[in-house]
Amino acid sequence: MRQFTADDYAARLERGAAHAREAGLDGLLVAPGPDLSYFIDYLPVATTERITLLVIPADGPPSMVVPILEHDSAEAALGARAVSLVDWSDGTDEYVPTAKLLSPDGRYGMSDSTWAMHLLGLQEKLPRARFTAMSKALPMLRAVKGDDEIERLAAAGAAADATFEQIIHVRFAGRTENDVAADLAALLREHGHSQVDFTVVGSGPNGANPHHEAGDRTIVDGDMVVLDFGGLKDGYGSDTTRTVHVGEPTPEERQVFEIVRQAQQEAFEAVAVGVPCQEIDRVARRVITDAGYGDRFIHRVGHGIGLTTHEPPYMVEGEEHPIEAGMCFSIEPGIYLPERFGVRIEDIVVATADGGRRLNDTSRELQLVE
Ligand code: ZN
Ligand code: ZN
Ligand code: ZN
Repeated sequence: MRQFTADDYAARLERGAAHAREAGLDGLLVAPGPDLSYFIDYLPVATTERITLLVIPADGPPSMVVPILEHDSAEAALGARAVSLVDWSDGTDEYVPTAKLLSPDGRYGMSDSTWAMHLLGLQEKLPRARFTAMSKALPMLRAVKGDDEIERLAAAGAAADATFEQIIHVRFAGRTENDVAADLAALLREHGHSQVDFTVVGSGPNGANPHHEAGDRTIVDGDMVVLDFGGLKDGYGSDTTRTVHVGEPTPEERQVFEIVRQAQQEAFEAVAVGVPCQEIDRVARRVITDAGYGDRFIHRVGHGIGLTTHEPPYMVEGEEHPIEAGMCFSIEPGIYLPERFGVRIEDIVVATADGGRRLNDTSRELQLVE
């Protein structure tokens, strides 16, 4: 896998400046978090109360305000990247150096991960400046992935697939959801994940709650079990869902599963460059509504994925932004029958000029486990 170079990061910084100009902003203010990783691949050892802020002007060279005690490690991390450092020391007003880099009447996009106290500190110094959340002003900034990013997402997806291929051979009946969740986490790490973000094991009635993680319920024969797991591998996310059944399913369980599988398939086939994001949601929802379960599909059909496991673009009613080649997102319709069971099937898909390409590709047929 090719490592990202100083040129890659220079191109991303230029992209950030271009997006800021398009949005009518004077610049971007980026605190430690996924946006800072995206622009310069820098994450301070400890994200502390001390302000660290990358300033990307709409026109002009970027600079980063750092606590002086972090100066050397920031300099080492930045290497050949064209970002100048502006130090501040304990015992001084930490917002003065940042304010000097900004225009008093400017409009700035601020990364969502900025601590509120830093935003408030800057507002006090620059009462006429206006700050807006980057996720609102520039939602599509990181949405289109480059080939090197897609390669990483594909590798993370393959690791999730390998995890699923193994989990269907473990014992479900008689063990708790937490036991199976621990197996999922161990397998994700075994397949190269450095971080596990979630391991949902929703058995029987728990599967009907899309927010259920895993608990001490003992799985029994006859349970549908929703497995939704993912995390980060080489800095990029995986997120996949398969629903399995312990033992022989009832005809109704098979039927509900088949509706979700069909909805997922049709939504996948609808992926094309230029199609509004909301259309993917609509296609899946139509299949489920036509089958009589419209009111049991209670969430959007998908979300973007990249340096985090949930980010724009959202495949949701009202999102009219057209799909662009290189966008990577989930397609994850579900049906949730309260106090009974749930079914969800989720793949990560990348949009290409020829339609969608799945980055998860284990079987979407109903797998029977023991
Ligand atoms: Zn059953
Ligand atoms: Zn998921
Ligand atoms: Zn998801």
